[in-house]
Amino acid sequence: MKLRRRVAAGFAVLCLLFLALVTLQLVVGDRLQTQHADRMARIDWMADSNRSILQFMTDAETGVRGFQLTGDIDYLRPYDTGRAGAFVELTRLIARAPDAGIEKLVGDERVAVDRWLYGYAIPIVNAGVVDTDAARAAHGKALFDQLRTANGAAARAIAAERDATVATDRRTIGQVQLLFAGLAVLVLVTGLAMAYVHQRHLLQPVEYIRQTLRRLADGDLGARAEQTGPAEMRAVIGTLNDLAAEIQRLLTAEQARADTGEVRQRIAAELRTEREDPTENGRRLARMLGAALGAEAVYGQYAVGRGAAFSVSWPENAPALAPDVVRRVRAGQPGKARDVAGLPGALAVAMTGDDDCAAGLLLINRPARPDWTDDERALVAGLGRDIDHAIRQQRLALRQSRLISELRVLDEQKDVFVSTVTHELRTPLTSILGYSEMLSDGGGLTPMQERGLAAILRNAHRLQATVADLLLLDRNNERIGAEAVPVDLAVMVTGVHDELAAAARSKNVDTTLEVGAARVRGDSVQLERALRKLTDNAIKFTPPGGRVELCLSAEGPNAVISITDTGMGIPADDLPGVFTPFHRATNAMDEAVQGTGLGLAIVRNIIAEHGGTVSVRSALGQGSTFTIVLPALATVAA
Ligand code: ADP
Repeated sequence: MKLRRRVAAGFAVLCLLFLALVTLQLVVGDRLQTQHADRMARIDWMADSNRSILQFMTDAETGVRGFQLTGDIDYLRPYDTGRAGAFVELTRLIARAPDAGIEKLVGDERVAVDRWLYGYAIPIVNAGVVDTDAARAAHGKALFDQLRTANGAAARAIAAERDATVATDRRTIGQVQLLFAGLAVLVLVTGLAMAYVHQRHLLQPVEYIRQTLRRLADGDLGARAEQTGPAEMRAVIGTLNDLAAEIQRLLTAEQARADTGEVRQRIAAELRTEREDPTENGRRLARMLGAALGAEAVYGQYAVGRGAAFSVSWPENAPALAPDVVRRVRAGQPGKARDVAGLPGALAVAMTGDDDCAAGLLLINRPARPDWTDDERALVAGLGRDIDHAIRQQRLALRQSRLISELRVLDEQKDVFVSTVTHELRTPLTSILGYSEMLSDGGGLTPMQERGLAAILRNAHRLQATVADLLLLDRNNERIGAEAVPVDLAVMVTGVHDELAAAARSKNVDTTLEVGAARVRGDSVQLERALRKLTDNAIKFTPPGGRVELCLSAEGPNAVISITDTGMGIPADDLPGVFTPFHRATNAMDEAVQGTGLGLAIVRNIIAEHGGTVSVRSALGQGSTFTIVLPALATVAA
């Protein structure tokens, strides 16, 4: 705004100046013309007046000569008017003579007039008679010639004055015109100069701005424009420079962020990589960190398990850390990057320790550039946390694998124990059962002995069933699987239902049966065992007045058998474990329902061996549904 006002004001002044000049030229020219006209009018008047003097005197001379020759008094009239008129003109001419020269010439003329008058005319007139004296006439003529000569001299002087005046005025007018032309040119030149200066004034900074923008666009982020020109231009350039600086700052920050992200990614990839030598990871990480942060040395100390502590450094010949530095860093809060007292330029992060593993550390030493930026500190802290996390994961994995192998050993021991006990029980049990049955069949026992024998037989049978179940679950004991044959599930489900319906009725549990057509390929004995165990359970865990439903259906490519009861149900916490051997739900144990916890495990094995699945849905106190899904055989019709 200021600049525009200044330029506008400058041009307005120039225009005013030009107008003033034109006006002045008109006024001055007009005045000069007027003065010139005045002067010329006066000179013309003087010339006329001088001519009149000669005319008047010629009239007077003619009159005097007429009177001299004739004595006629009438001739004296032109003499009198001529003489009077000449004197009037002479007096006026002398009074208005412009300079002493002309004044003197007019004076001389007057003297010549006087001489003619007093030397010739007046004596003639005063004589009052005809005078024929030729000598007097010649004298008068001579005197008049003198007068004519004087008048001629004055006329010439007036003409010369006229020429001089014309020349002087013309020169003056010329000079004035020249002066105005010069001034006009000056104003014009000033205007042009102003325009040129302003143009330079504006164009130079604009050129700087253009060049700077070009350089910025070409990627030269350090480009800045020189702050010149008027205040507005300087302000614009200042803003442009600020903008360029801000862009540079943002891009630099973005670049730093990208670099940081890249380092973290590389470190994360290294942390995920499993190497045979666990110190190799550490060494690689130290090298990456050292290179990324321009460090002189990087140290890492960490433990992944009891007796598995590692210490790495980069470069390998880096001087060892002082024990008290190690102690102090390890004692720090894990995941926080801190300066290390007594080690200028060092930044360290402590690593978490636990009962088995001592705390670790990550220390980066950069004495050449001890001023760590906030971003660098954040990066080191973040990396420290990442490494710490990876180490903890490794510890967990190590512990988990140890635990798994311990459990595996325990499981194997259990299998050996169960297998041994089962086999050891089988022989004495056979003999107990054999002899008991023999005694029972032999008769001759007292009623009390019979009751005792019945109890022995009942419990021996239970034990035999348990042993049979254990044998079925024994992995070392290969089941002699019968050849797979087509099994009509409808017949099987109906058979199991009919077989167990009596037991249910005696417990006042209602049973229903809903059978569709479905066949599978498999071992009918095993499948029936599984179905019987589930139905047994349903009746066993359902209180009197309840209901058990058996349902067989074909669903797509599968045969689905579901056994639903309205019994005690299974607590949600126990549901995931019910198919595990020996697992019994808490409510079943609380209510002292008899069982070994082997049945469902056997069911699961049998169904799995047939390529199917068994699952359970249950609500505590409302009942359970066990569902067997088996791949079905195509129906007979199909
Ligand atoms: P057992 O019946 O001999 O205890 P199982 O392996 O057959 O062993 O069953 C494991 C446990 O699952 C049972 O102890 C019981 O807690 C629970 N269970 C199985 N079937 C049912 C059912 N129909 N209703 C309620 N609980 C059941």
